[in-house]
Amino acid sequence: LNRRLAAFGTTIFAEMSALAARTGSINLGQGFPDTDGPAEIAEAAVRAIRDGRGNQYPPGPGVPELRRAIAAHQQRFYGLGYDPDTEVLVTAGATEAIAAALLALLEPGDEVIALEPFYDSYAACIAMAGAVRVPLTLRAPDFRPDLDALRDAITPRTRLLLLNTPHNPTGTVLTREELAAIAELAVERDLLVVTDEVYEHLVFEGGHTPLASLPGMRERTVTISSAGKTFSFTGWKVGWITAPPALVSAVRSAKQFLTYVSSGPFQYAVAEALALPDPYYEAFRADLAAKRDLLTEGLTAAGLRVFRPQGTYFITTDISPLGEKDGLAFCRSLPERCGVVAIPNQVFYDDVEAGATQVRWAFCKKTEVLREAVDRLRAL
Ligand code: PMP
Ligand code: GLN
Repeated sequence: LNRRLAAFGTTIFAEMSALAARTGSINLGQGFPDTDGPAEIAEAAVRAIRDGRGNQYPPGPGVPELRRAIAAHQQRFYGLGYDPDTEVLVTAGATEAIAAALLALLEPGDEVIALEPFYDSYAACIAMAGAVRVPLTLRAPDFRPDLDALRDAITPRTRLLLLNTPHNPTGTVLTREELAAIAELAVERDLLVVTDEVYEHLVFEGGHTPLASLPGMRERTVTISSAGKTFSFTGWKVGWITAPPALVSAVRSAKQFLTYVSSGPFQYAVAEALALPDPYYEAFRADLAAKRDLLTEGLTAAGLRVFRPQGTYFITTDISPLGEKDGLAFCRSLPERCGVVAIPNQVFYDDVEAGATQVRWAFCKKTEVLREAVDRLRAL
């Protein structure tokens, strides 16, 4: 393994999901739903396979049906107009979109300012691009970005801001004021922005504001999203970017040498999913909001301090009220102690101290599974 990647080892999601499988624990670690998305969308994928749509390499930018559906979605929910032919690119999940964007847009030595705790692939992809990550640390209990610290962190080497809202793992949703301040800095310092908005439909209070909708941002922003989260088909790996033509073209240059293309038949099914009427999106959000409340109550009853998430399907907690000092050790011992698996946030921080006692719990699980987990956690 080369020096750029040596520090990264195995992702925490793989480690903790393997631990859950080995110990038969309830897996509230890796963020994937335990119920598949809408049956009619699964049927649409089966139909595409049977009808011979997408069984051979789809077009590099994604099938036109899906690119049109993505553009229509951005228009419908946010009033943002994107040309499906030049401003949309389908990727192998948001993961490839992140990788391709960073590999395409960064020169070795460029600095990237990213919200810390980082989603795990950010640090690795920045490293693969030979660039330097500069964390903007979100701190308990509020996990708000310090905008003065952001201003101070920008140097002549800063090329790009890497944002994530709603934010995994903290559940922070950036406010319109925070986004406006970030946008102003990006314009003033002429920075590109890559914004990971995969939880755009899981904002529990108010709505989601895409960074690209702020003044001066559309022309410098690559927006990333994914069908995995919104339609509960994480295994299909259908993601996308929307961005102005020059940025889409750059990201496509990298993408063509990563996967070239992926998920042919699933692309047709996701095109249908994006066009689902509003009640689908409302019911999805309401279901997860109720689960957030259930798990919040259970974790609180178990003695943890809960930081109520405004979005995503994760809850970050502090385990110090239990007398625990190390989230990683806690998560490794949790299956034996009570048959539940969670994720230690410290692995997403450069400033490990800032996240030492934080642990993340996924609530995208069946109500009875969450109830059982909460029962087990009483043993703590
Ligand atoms: N970004 C964030 C913030 C995520 O939480 C995830 C996955 N849970 C991804 C990207 C990756 O998405 P995908 O599964 O579509 O590759
Ligand atoms: N994004 C999911 C999470 O945060 C995991 C996806 C993965 O395993 N790469 O849990």
